[in-house]
Parts: sequence; structure tokens; C-alpha cells
Amino acid sequence: MTTESTTERALRPTAKRLPEHARSHNLSLVLQTLYRDGSRSRADIARETRLTRVTVSDLVAELMAEGLIVELGQREGSRPGKPATLLDLDRGAYQIIGIDLSDYAQFRGAVLDLGGNIISRADIPLAASTGADATAKVAALIETLIAQATAPILGVGVGSPGVVDRDGVVLRAPNLGWANERLQATLGERFQIPVLVANDANAAVLAEHSFGGADRDLMLIKVGHGVGGALLLGGSLLYGSRFAAGEIGHVVVGTGDGAPCVCGKSGCLETWLAAPRLEAQLQAADASARHQILREAGKHLGLALAPIVGALNLAEVVLSGPNHLLDGGLTEAIIDTVRDRTMAEFHGDLTVRMTTLGEDIVMRGAAVMVLSGQLGVS
Ligand SMILES: [Zn+2]
Repeated sequence: MTTESTTERALRPTAKRLPEHARSHNLSLVLQTLYRDGSRSRADIARETRLTRVTVSDLVAELMAEGLIVELGQREGSRPGKPATLLDLDRGAYQIIGIDLSDYAQFRGAVLDLGGNIISRADIPLAASTGADATAKVAALIETLIAQATAPILGVGVGSPGVVDRDGVVLRAPNLGWANERLQATLGERFQIPVLVANDANAAVLAEHSFGGADRDLMLIKVGHGVGGALLLGGSLLYGSRFAAGEIGHVVVGTGDGAPCVCGKSGCLETWLAAPRLEAQLQAADASARHQILREAGKHLGLALAPIVGALNLAEVVLSGPNHLLDGGLTEAIIDTVRDRTMAEFHGDLTVRMTTLGEDIVMRGAAVMVLSGQLGVS
């Protein structure tokens, strides 16, 4: 991975750590060399960033003063007389709060270290709250997590359902009764720490990229109460003209003769794939009918994905949602359908798989937003 091409460019920093842009950029370069795999000397960092050794020493001194970098000791086997001191990011120096608002029954949150590891958790039952009540519950959850943190907090990341603009305004989230909800600004003013709010699937695709080993040309499909999606192209998050890139849940698949959808149309992707609908269908079916229901759902997702894979030449499609529904016949049917409908020469090696990050994917992605926005690392 190169240092200046990933989510750093995709997520706009909302709080500048330093007034001088170039210096801030160089500090991020130094941190990025240590972020993925640490243990480098100042000379190693200078070589990788192409900054001078004097500049690197200066930047390292500043980052050590901020507590972000620590000296590990001297490299073993170095030549006599020229011991190199190894440096690493201090992943425990600060903590991040990651919040996932995508579950319809509860808001979930965690305190994470700078490596994206979860240190402690909390959740709050949603109890059908909407509007200002839902916003108050988000704030209450953040307050609980701030109390749980054991190091200074770098920032709060929030993954919200619905359409979210680049300023963290939730333009529309029907399930939570939010319209033009200035969630990022409201929470930032209340807690006086940097807060970043993004769409939940966008957060999830960032987590998959940073922690799931995903490719740089990737679509993530999030199946839950509804069906959401997000696209990472060349390592950058795609927002789209109205911030709804990847949202294919209400695209009609086939000839539109499917089941009626909440949006008023019939045969939307969501009518084939939403978890509650699939669960209800499966409950009423025997084993072979179950297999067929899951294959049909996968086939319809494949029908929707084939032109996207074809147009964007994606390398990977990653699914996030209930394993027992998605992993198996459903995924196989997606692969079969996309293969049948795209050119093997360009798209034959497409991977379709479950995320390995499980239910924590949105919280960990929310942490990536903070790491990327505040430190420029991902
Ligand atoms: Zn619909």
C-alpha cells in the first residue's frame, strides 16, 4: 500500500491537527510508515517517505512529544558503532470511540485502540426511539464510552444508516426518523472532541479495507433490516452526486414482478434479500425449499451486481450480515450469476466472500474514519 492513496484521501479531515498543511501531511506520512507494520528506524522512515533525515528526526521528535511514537530499543544485529533505534506507533497512547447505529434493536459502541482493536463495549436499547430521542441515545452511549476510556480520546466515529453527506449531516434515515439531522455538528459541539459521522456501509467498507485485507476495488453489501452498499475504487470511497453511492437496496431487479416494497415499487433488491424477509420465508420452508430460497436471493443480488462489476471491474464483493443466510448457497449463486453475465477475461477472478470482521465491522470502520481523519493513517 502506498502512503497517500487510500482512505486518507477518501475521508475529508474535519479537524486540522496542525495549521500548516504540508507539515501535517509529512507527519501523516511518518505515522503511515509505522501504522501497518512498525519497528522502523529514522533512516528507514526517511528512505520510505523520501523526506530528509533531518526532517524525519524533527517530525519524529514532535510525534514523540505528542505521545504517538515510542522508541522500542536498538535493532538487533546492527553493525557495531552504528546502532539504529527502532520506532513504533504507540497504539495505546490514544483511544477511539466507534459507534454503530445500523441495528434496529440497539445502538452499539466500543472503545478501540489506535490499532483498531476493541478494548471495551457498551450498547443502548433503541426501543423504537426516533428523531431527537434517537439523537439523545447516541449522545448517552458516547458518554458511557467516554467514561470507559482509559487513555485520551482521539475522536468519535459514527456509522449511521441512511444517506449521510460529507459534513456528517444525516440527510435521510427513515428508520430513525432523521431528516437533515446535523449529527456530526451536534455531537461535536456537545462533547468538544472531533466527531465524524458517515453512512454505515461506507464505514464498513473502510473497515474491510484497513482490517479485512480487502482489495482497493471493492463493493461491500450490507444485509440487515434493509440492504445497503458501499464502493471503494482505487482505495478511495465513492460518495456519488447525492452521497448515496452504493445504495442499491431499492433498485428493481428483473422485470419488477416481485414482491411489493416499502418504497412503493415492486421487486426491489431489498424484497429479495432483507434479513427479516428471508428469515420469514425460510421458517415456512423445508430443507430443499430453503436451499432454493437462498439461491434465488443470491441470484437476484448477482443480477444487480453483474453490471456494476462489469462497469467498474471490481476485484472483490464482500458481504456483511447474518452468516447463516449469506454464507453458502446464496454466495455461490451470486458467483454463478455474475460469472454467467460478465467476461471471464476481465472478471473471472472476482472474489465474493463474507467479511471476516463479523458484527464489529461498522464500529471498526468508524474507528478508521477517525484514524484517517485525525492522523491521516489507514
Ligand atoms: Zn424498494
